[in-house]
Amino acid sequence: MKRTHNCNELRPAHAGQQVTLAGWVHSRRDLGGVLFIDLRDREGRTQTVFDPADLPKELFEAATKLHSESVIEIIGKVRVRPAGTDNPKIVTGQIEVLVKEITVLNHAEVLPFPVDDPEVASKVNEELRLQYRYLDLRRPEMTRNLRVRSKVATATRVFMEEQGFLEVETPTLFKSTPEGAREFLVPNRREPGSFYALPQSPQQFKQILMCAGVERYFQLARCYRDEDLRADRQPEFTQVDIEMSFIEREDLYALIEGLLKRVWKTALGQDIPTPFRRISFEEALNRYGIDKPDTRLGMELVDFTEEFRASTFKVFSGAITNGGVVKAMNAKGLAGATQGQIETMTEYAKSFGAKGLAYIKVENGEWKSPIVKFFNDAEKAALKSKLAIEEGDLILFAADQWLNACEILGKIRLYCAEVLKAQGKLTVPADRFDFLWVVDFPLLSFDKEMNRWYSSHHPFTAPMAEDVPLLKSDPKKVRGQHYDIVVNGVELGGGSIRIHRPDVQKTIFEEILQISPEETTLRFGYMLEAFKYGAPPHGGIALGFDRLIAILCATPSIRDVIAFPKTAKGVCLMTNSPASVSPRQLRDLHIEVKTAKKE
Ligand code: ASP
Repeated sequence: MKRTHNCNELRPAHAGQQVTLAGWVHSRRDLGGVLFIDLRDREGRTQTVFDPADLPKELFEAATKLHSESVIEIIGKVRVRPAGTDNPKIVTGQIEVLVKEITVLNHAEVLPFPVDDPEVASKVNEELRLQYRYLDLRRPEMTRNLRVRSKVATATRVFMEEQGFLEVETPTLFKSTPEGAREFLVPNRREPGSFYALPQSPQQFKQILMCAGVERYFQLARCYRDEDLRADRQPEFTQVDIEMSFIEREDLYALIEGLLKRVWKTALGQDIPTPFRRISFEEALNRYGIDKPDTRLGMELVDFTEEFRASTFKVFSGAITNGGVVKAMNAKGLAGATQGQIETMTEYAKSFGAKGLAYIKVENGEWKSPIVKFFNDAEKAALKSKLAIEEGDLILFAADQWLNACEILGKIRLYCAEVLKAQGKLTVPADRFDFLWVVDFPLLSFDKEMNRWYSSHHPFTAPMAEDVPLLKSDPKKVRGQHYDIVVNGVELGGGSIRIHRPDVQKTIFEEILQISPEETTLRFGYMLEAFKYGAPPHGGIALGFDRLIAILCATPSIRDVIAFPKTAKGVCLMTNSPASVSPRQLRDLHIEVKTAKKE
């Protein structure tokens, strides 16, 4: 059994040749006693023709009994399709193969869902798709995603190799780390009560590799986080993990810009302009209300704190007196927003603790809003000019503490963009990619409940040199040497220049993050020690590989670019994992299961 061609290969130039093809019965049509079977393999489709006049009776009958997705091999002759019967939708659409011999390699039973019709298949319940993932993956769209993923992985490796990086594998049996997320634990049979943890990222190992003099490391690393899964999260995922010695932030930006340029060219044939824009965390919040702005959407937020400082409208002036700000945005053309849409936006504002949502609808030459009567002429003129207000606009306000005000409008801005897109008033070309670096994040954030500081990125991130003196006196002002790479509102990755001095790292752990000296030694002793024996200055980044591929494949779900993803509950529906284990296995692991098992 040897295929002479794949199912995407034959053209009119092959007419007259005898060929052997193998693959799956994609679809069948019976036209006046002649049977047409579209044969599909990974590469594409070819129409085959079973004419009873050319085939022994039993072979023809075998063909008529085939269910979709049965696996067959055929030998036949290529011929140009009769005029008018071309199929311009497929590249083999000008030819067909007249079958002389057929071997049924495997009969398929009736399928749980069809795989031949993209329209139907895309509507199939996702749980069913995941349960029969091998069928789902046969769909050409899914095969294409796997192919893009493979190509991009290879392009990444080639590029990194060219740049002098070594691919080094780091352990996946690790120990508990402080990076924030809950971890998966693996019991250690040899010592009751001790556990490995699956790594949230190879962060510590990659920094140790810098101490080891590797200088340039990368890895397509599998990482694990046992978090409550949101739509775009998986408990295990892949990162392009990178670390370099003797660099500054700019060196890293240049590397990643080069890598993404290569990746975009490989996957989409598109030249993306570099360098990417840089924007500070503060500016991102001020203008877009979010630290991963989608700059394609327009509708920037505008500050009106000065204009409303002495306003008779107390909701605004009162917020400013309390140290807050007034911000507004113009949702262009959304004056016709329905009551339900306004309510949704109000709920967003309330979810940030606001009492309500102030807005103005500009309709029939009038500013319709109960708050307008409180505004004087100067305030109105400022709004009109700074927001370029026109007929049909919807103006939305937030008066609150700075971060809250920004985030309220940031969330509403994204919602308005969805509504405007659905109404056709906002169009974003599919091939537009707005990349940017978000920089100058605060090094620390304050946890009100726990009454302590925690690292905004992770505790290994170096503070900006000029902010170090503020570490103890005014921690919230300290900026970290942390950067995020964002494209079209999606955080593609993040990283930082690291602390490489043991004294500074110890101060961060013990004095700022309030980790006790004992615990510091227990958890990070080896790292602090490694820093004592000559640690070079270093920094790195990790890019979310699944997310990267999802963007390139223009699919909203990373599940579509992972061969065997898990559900939002962390379950693999095909293999039914996780699953219970035998009492004997539990005994060997010194584990006693206390909770009663649900029936
Ligand atoms: N380890 C970090 C993460 O997984 C990335 C980095 O700082 O390089 O987010």
